Amino acid sequence: MTALSEFNVRSGGETDWINITGDVQKKVAASGIREGICVVFIPHTTAAVTINENADPDVSRDVNFALNMISPDRREFRHGEGNSAAHTKTSLVGPSITLIVTGGRLLLGTWQGIWFNEYDGPRTRKVHVRVSGD
Ligand code: ZN
Repeated sequence: MTALSEFNVRSGGETDWINITGDVQKKVAASGIREGICVVFIPHTTAAVTINENADPDVSRDVNFALNMISPDRREFRHGEGNSAAHTKTSLVGPSITLIVTGGRLLLGTWQGIWFNEYDGPRTRKVHVRVSGD
């Protein structure tokens, strides 16, 4: 069996992490698949997805601080839209994650959550979810 679905997220500021664990879990439950794989894919070039701590909001703040150190805005950038720092962070974090589905649920560690990462908001963004298995 396989199921493809999507949902939207509305990001706040220029840099914003949104916990989408519950949204993805709902798509897994709706698929009826008990054992398999779930792929989460972000179809954007200045937004990404990652798995990280779901408890302390300082973690996302600190990761964004580190990403801003790695990819600050630079006047040497040529891209006319002026958001090359956001494009760079998106490539560093990545457009997709693969998760294990077992017992009809996502297999995540106690402290893990799925985070939509906005680097060029505020915007309305799309998240695709493919669940495959039995
Ligand atoms: Zn751009």
